[in-house]
Amino acid sequence: MPNFEVKTICVIGAGNMGHQISLSAALAGYTVICTDINREILQKAENFADTYLPERVAKGKLAEEDAKAARARLTFTASLAEAAKDADMVIEAAIEKLELKRKIFADLDKICPPHAILATNSSYIISSKIADVTGRPEKVCNMHFFNPALVMKLVEVVKGPHVADETVEVAVGVCKKMGKVPVVLQKEIYGFLVNRVVSAIKTEALYIYDMGVATPEDIDTAVVHALGHPMGPFRLMDLTGIDLSYYVGMERYQETGDPKYKPSPVVVEKFVKKEWGRKTGQGFYEYCK
Ligand code: NAD
Repeated sequence: MPNFEVKTICVIGAGNMGHQISLSAALAGYTVICTDINREILQKAENFADTYLPERVAKGKLAEEDAKAARARLTFTASLAEAAKDADMVIEAAIEKLELKRKIFADLDKICPPHAILATNSSYIISSKIADVTGRPEKVCNMHFFNPALVMKLVEVVKGPHVADETVEVAVGVCKKMGKVPVVLQKEIYGFLVNRVVSAIKTEALYIYDMGVATPEDIDTAVVHALGHPMGPFRLMDLTGIDLSYYVGMERYQETGDPKYKPSPVVVEKFVKKEWGRKTGQGFYEYCK
C-alpha cells in the first residue's frame, strides 16, 4: 500500500495533451498546477478551461458547483518551481525530445518533495531513458494518455525495470480516479502498445500516399469505412500533430541509424512549412483557427 495519497498534481506542458490532462485531473478532484514555458500557450489553456467547463454545464453534463470547484482547483503558472514544489505527482507533457525531458526531470528531482512520483506522458520514450537523471528512479514511470485526453479513456502505465510496484499502484489509482481505463505494460517497449499498432498503419498509409496511389482523403475514407476506425491516419496525424510525427521519426532514426524510421517526405515538408495539423490550422486538412 502506498504510504501517501496523491492530492496535488503538476502537469508540465499546456499544449495539446497537457491542458486536457490538467482539466481531467481537476475534474477528478485533484489540485492541479499546469506549467508551460510559453505564456501564450498557458493563456490558451486557461481560456480553454474557462470555455469548456461552462459549455459542459450548459449541455447538462456537469453540475455548476462541480465545474466551479474544478476550476478553483486548477491554476496555471510559467514557473516550474512554483508548479512542482508541492506536487505528489508530476505528469510531464512537454514536447517529445529526450534531452528536454531529461533536463525537466533533473530539475523536478530537485524541486519536488521526495515522495513525489514523476511520470512522463511521452508517446514513445521509455522512462528508463529518463529515470537515471533523478535520485528516485523507482518513482519515475510512463503514464501515456491519449488525445483528446478529456475524452479518451485509455492510459498505458509502463513498468520499467527500475519502477517500484508502489509507483505503478499509485499511477493506476490516479488513472482510475480520473475515470480512465489503465493498462499496465509489464515491460518497457518502444512505442508501448497502442502506438506500435497505430505506427504500422500510419507508415503504410504514408507509403501509399508517397507512391501516388491515393489521396489522404481517400486513404482516410478507406480506413474509416473498411476498418471501422473513428478517423483515418491522416486526420489522426493532424490531431496529434505532424510536428510530433516528425520528432518521433527523427529521434528514432538518430537512435537506431535505420533509414526506415526517417519521417516520410510529406511529413518533412509539412513540418518545415509549419503545417502541423489542427494546432496551426493546416495539416493534411484545413481547419478554422
Ligand atoms: P505540444 O507541442 O502541443 O505541447 C508541448 C508543450 O510543452 C508546448 O506548449 C511547449 O511550450 C511546452 N514546453 C516545451 N518545453 C517546456 C519546458 N521546459 N517546460 C514546460 N513546458 C515546456 O505537444 P503535445 O502534443 O501536447 O505532446 C506532449 C507530450 O505528450 C509529448 O511527449 C508527446 O509525445 C505526448 N503525447 C502526445 C499525444 C498527441 O496526440 N499529441 C498523445 C499522447 C502523448
